[in-house]
Amino acid sequence: MSLFAADKVIVLKAARMFDGKSKTLLQSAVVIVQGDKIVDLGANLAIPSGAKVIDLGDATLSPGFMDAHTHLTLDFSGNFNERRLKELDLNVSEQAIKATTYARATIEAGFTTVRDLGSRFVGSPERVDVALRNSINKGVIVGPRMLVATKGIGATGGHFDPTSGFRDLLFGREPDASEGIADGPDAIRKAVRFDVKNGADVIKAAVSGGVLSLADEVDTPQLTPAEMAALVDESHRLRRKVAVHCHGDQAAREAIEAGVDSIEHGSFMKPEALTLMKNKGTFLTPTLMATEWIMSKIDNYPPALQAKAKAAAVARSEMFRNAVKMGIKVSFGTDAAVFPHGQNAKEFKLMVDLGMQPIEALKSATGNDAELFGIAQKTGTLEKGKLADIIAMTGDPTADITATERVSFVMKEGKIIRNGPPSAPPVAVSAEQEPEIPAD
Ligand SMILES: [Zn+2]
Repeated sequence: MSLFAADKVIVLKAARMFDGKSKTLLQSAVVIVQGDKIVDLGANLAIPSGAKVIDLGDATLSPGFMDAHTHLTLDFSGNFNERRLKELDLNVSEQAIKATTYARATIEAGFTTVRDLGSRFVGSPERVDVALRNSINKGVIVGPRMLVATKGIGATGGHFDPTSGFRDLLFGREPDASEGIADGPDAIRKAVRFDVKNGADVIKAAVSGGVLSLADEVDTPQLTPAEMAALVDESHRLRRKVAVHCHGDQAAREAIEAGVDSIEHGSFMKPEALTLMKNKGTFLTPTLMATEWIMSKIDNYPPALQAKAKAAAVARSEMFRNAVKMGIKVSFGTDAAVFPHGQNAKEFKLMVDLGMQPIEALKSATGNDAELFGIAQKTGTLEKGKLADIIAMTGDPTADITATERVSFVMKEGKIIRNGPPSAPPVAVSAEQEPEIPAD
């Protein structure tokens, strides 16, 4: 959208501002917004005449938060077996309607952009993530800007195989590239092309086992180096970044060598793999919230998954401490859907508790994520000419990182989404989402 002199000017004032890249906060901050863009910003700026002034008081302005790892079309925060049974008679359209409330909860929590890493419904070709993204872009519903992955790509019997753990051929046939399941470099290329053809902005693949899958070990490699090379080459030719689900150390080393853009989870990565990441400039998306939630509800999961979750939880804390010490590029990402949507900001405290400086944690969710997503020229920092994706949180997040959980104002592309308390979610959703992750 271009700038018109006639566009209304909105001035945001707050005690402090984090701009998404600096090492310190700016005091007595003023940000001037016209249309969908930031036109000026600084300390104690003069207010243009006729502007609408919003004084947010003892708050900190920040670029809208980003989450590099969500699943806005899903919710598997409840009882695992119950959800698995319900999935068999799930009405996908009904789930799509629910997803609109997840999108709203996410943006109201201050997350104005998400990378949505996989959406699939066993036996259904529906791409609810594409529908959600398009509906948000067209202004039909309110939600964060979405970069979607459609079906994640993975091996037969691997973490993404939707028929894993069910009786052989229960669904009539083995899944194929149209469901993201592919074996061999050529089939992987086909799966990438199929995802892009159907609206993927980013390519997601599972290169190692996972916690919430029934027929694999959590850290075994699931793609060969040749398959990973094909995955990365085909994705990059089509100008898509590659995010890989990976807990295992061997799979991580092979994926980093193949040139993936981000390692999601990375639980069992040893210092050698981290060194490789550092040299290649690969991002780490730690998703600490996912293990945190699973551990807090461990009885909700079958025994086989409990063992995998416990091993991953122990390993990931050490891995993350090492990553912070080594200065690995960290992209903020939570795996929302493993826990109820809208609690994304609790990731910040987990990062800080494991040794990250608060300002670095804030940077991971703004400037770093924008760089990883390939949208840094438009948003992710507060600068003249950037999109006006701006939030405010009560207090000072560098003194108390949980300020990130108290977002009071959300603006996306110059439009005010929220100023004050969040809108109440529909009754059915609030009943379902009642469980909160424990504070510590
Ligand atoms: Zn995930």
